[in-house]
Amino acid sequence: QERTAKFVYDFEEGNKDLKDLLGGKGANLAEMTNLGLPVPPGFTITTEACKVYLDEGAPPDGLADEVSEHLRAIEEKMGKRLGDSEDPLLVSVRSGAKFSMPGMMETVLNVGLTDASVHGLARQAGGNDRFAWDSYRRLIQMFGKTVCEVPGEAFENAIEAAKQAKNTHDDLDLDAGDLRALVDEYKKIFHEHTGRDFPQDPREQLDLAIRAVFDSWNADRAILYRRQERIPADLGTAVNVVAMVFGNLGADSGTGVAFTRDPATGEQGVYGDYLANAQGEDVVAGIRNTIPLQELEQLDKTSFDQLMQIMATLEGHYKDLCDIEFTIERGKLWMLQTRVGKRTAAAAFVIATQLVDEGVIDLDEALHRVNGAQLAQLMFPRFDTDGEHRPVAKGVAASPGAAVGKAVFDSQRAAELGAAGEKVILVRRETNPDDLPGMIAAQGVLTSRGGKTSHAAVVARGMGKTCVCGAETLDVDVVGRTFTVDGETVSEGDVISIDGTSGKIYLGEVPVRPSPVVQYFEGKAEPESDPLVAAVHRLMTHADGIRRLGVWTNADTGEDAARARRFGAQGIGLCRTEHMFLGDRRELVERLILAETDADRQAALDALLPLQRADFLEIFRAMDGLPVVVRLIDPPLHEFLPGLEDLAAKVAVAEATGKDPGKDGVMLVAVRRMHEQNPMLGLRGVRLGLVIPGLFAMQIRAIAEAAAQCRNEGGDPHPEIMVPLVGAVQELETVRAEAEKVLRDVASKSGVEVPAMIGTMIELPRAALNASQIAQAAEFFSFGTNDLTQMTWGFSRDDVEAAFFSRYLELGIFGVSPFESIDRDGVGRLVSLAVQEGRATRPDLQLGVCGEHGGDPDSVHFFHQAGLDYVSCSPFRVPVARLEAGRAAV
Ligand code: PEP
Ligand code: MG
Repeated sequence: QERTAKFVYDFEEGNKDLKDLLGGKGANLAEMTNLGLPVPPGFTITTEACKVYLDEGAPPDGLADEVSEHLRAIEEKMGKRLGDSEDPLLVSVRSGAKFSMPGMMETVLNVGLTDASVHGLARQAGGNDRFAWDSYRRLIQMFGKTVCEVPGEAFENAIEAAKQAKNTHDDLDLDAGDLRALVDEYKKIFHEHTGRDFPQDPREQLDLAIRAVFDSWNADRAILYRRQERIPADLGTAVNVVAMVFGNLGADSGTGVAFTRDPATGEQGVYGDYLANAQGEDVVAGIRNTIPLQELEQLDKTSFDQLMQIMATLEGHYKDLCDIEFTIERGKLWMLQTRVGKRTAAAAFVIATQLVDEGVIDLDEALHRVNGAQLAQLMFPRFDTDGEHRPVAKGVAASPGAAVGKAVFDSQRAAELGAAGEKVILVRRETNPDDLPGMIAAQGVLTSRGGKTSHAAVVARGMGKTCVCGAETLDVDVVGRTFTVDGETVSEGDVISIDGTSGKIYLGEVPVRPSPVVQYFEGKAEPESDPLVAAVHRLMTHADGIRRLGVWTNADTGEDAARARRFGAQGIGLCRTEHMFLGDRRELVERLILAETDADRQAALDALLPLQRADFLEIFRAMDGLPVVVRLIDPPLHEFLPGLEDLAAKVAVAEATGKDPGKDGVMLVAVRRMHEQNPMLGLRGVRLGLVIPGLFAMQIRAIAEAAAQCRNEGGDPHPEIMVPLVGAVQELETVRAEAEKVLRDVASKSGVEVPAMIGTMIELPRAALNASQIAQAAEFFSFGTNDLTQMTWGFSRDDVEAAFFSRYLELGIFGVSPFESIDRDGVGRLVSLAVQEGRATRPDLQLGVCGEHGGDPDSVHFFHQAGLDYVSCSPFRVPVARLEAGRAAV
């Protein structure tokens, strides 16, 4: 394995662009250091070192020496030695991956405290014994839990008992003596669970903490989070070792989290939470309730002003919303972290356009700051609260959306009910990383404690999940599985509604109304109606102006077509016709399939013709002036017949009771005859057209007659005829000859000639490989990437996702299902090959895609690069595809 020689970087040596190597936290700490901001001295151990450790089970050679060298540098800057008994340097050991994974990995604070150095720390802190013993007990607790897997409750129970003995709920009521006794208690707990004493060698503490952070990359919750967020499993985490500064040294100290703008709405101002006399994890854990950052101005104006200035510097430097973590130690401000902050989907649009107005970025860059997934989120409905619904409580609006579901009080239960298809709201006092499975399964998350930066808020926002937190009037009883509010009790299973945009909480189910963004796309709301809509309008307009890809839609009815058109679709890329053979037409299809003579078959086709013609006419009218690609019937015909097993059972019952099975008996014979082991590889697509005389001709006639009629009405139809599942040019040539004959016939009989291109889907690997031949008979290709994925991987698209994809995702065989996002390395290469060869044969070959991938953001970028003319997707995805096509073009 190739190794970089250097595994450790001082903060002075890094910068914000080295996230792959130094992780997000390390890269940004380096950037702030080099901007001259007050960052405590420290160094970063690279993700490369982590990867070696995870591969080989041991840190890379030379890492220990490098750590020693860089530790010496911190010691020199701070003028103290790690764990020195007189004047100890303490360090924090923090994880920091390339992509932020809030709370998923480990941190150990106060490394360097020992039975000896705890006294030195107390003296250093001006005789503050309480602080020193509190710091020591925190170290044993975090180190025990993180490094040595001592169950957290063991420590929590001990501190709870100490508080009870003093008749208090507040840690701050424990004095130095109590905490010293607690340290003894903790050391016993540590020994009991690990069979060894708490390590008294500071360097051993440091080395073990570093390993524990490496190991935490593969903690269950981290793996789950990565899967959810589609973060690759092989990146590894960096480790940051930073000189400790203390927010818990008294009233003139504290710690906080801040945003340079409101991460929920994008509004400019001072947003954040502050907690006096506390360490950072107290804020994020939401254990104590914080005060709004503005109030820091009264407490410590100098630090507040400096913080505001630093925030302005950071926004100017990163040209984006930043979030930060800071600590004030006895009136001195220290920056512990910054990054380009997570934000809600709405805020992303608003902030991007604000920054354009402020002259910080241009519109092209603004497009990069938003994405299709965010736009999709904004198209969700919201609560309609104009009616009689009155909120019973209000919490912090932490992550927007309207969520309705049954109240559930623990993560596991939420995950179970969620898996069973139930809608649930996870209700907790506060969440911690163990709640992740429940948060993923829930419609929304509700907590009674913690602010906008609590774990629940940060994680929910990252997942785009509705969250209301810090609803303090809720009395949550997790054990009893109830909460009480406003004199009412809600038990597990009772339906509640939470509004992540307003923070309001309702009992029962509140009806929802459409999103303003959808209203705008529907043409029912003006862009100026609201700042979010205005921002969306502006960025969509820019995307439309620069994109090269057309955006068409998959629609089978006039109604869907009309909606998609309002959403900006420039044509229909796939009108599936099989849906048109269901309902009361099924009988005609049965007659067609069961026909024993040509005359019977023709009679069934003749009866279907006017019905099909009416279908197409409606669609041509809705898409007047725009192309409509009609695909000839594709699925195996037995899908229109009763199922074999049911029918066999019915006939058997009839026979056993001595009755005549009648029509069922005839049908059973036919169903048996047509049964296929692998229907997706059987008689379907173009094969049907070649085997069942007159079927395709009837459809083509219906298309041509509908187009002629539409033209006669003064319309402007643009039909295109698409043949599915072609693998050989001969198949297409045969259908083409038949189609041309029908088109000529309709033209001469109706006196109206409506040109119709004839093309094919590329759904089989053989078709892609033979694109140059197939293009001789096709005026267009449309990539059916659903089947192309199925046929390339040999994955049954109807079975595999439920059967084993979760295991494949777990194993990292792919990061996302290839049916969701195009497999660039396999299916994508077939697409690119067919594009090149097809165009080589026929330079004006029209190229599109109509599989589900047409509406998937990442795939849209691929299709842009591959040189397609358009993507076609379901109506609701059309705006998403427009935006992503624009983003792909900048
Ligand atoms: C495809 O295979 O990608 C396609 C669009 O056709 P269908 O999904 O109808 O098989
Ligand atoms: Mg298909």
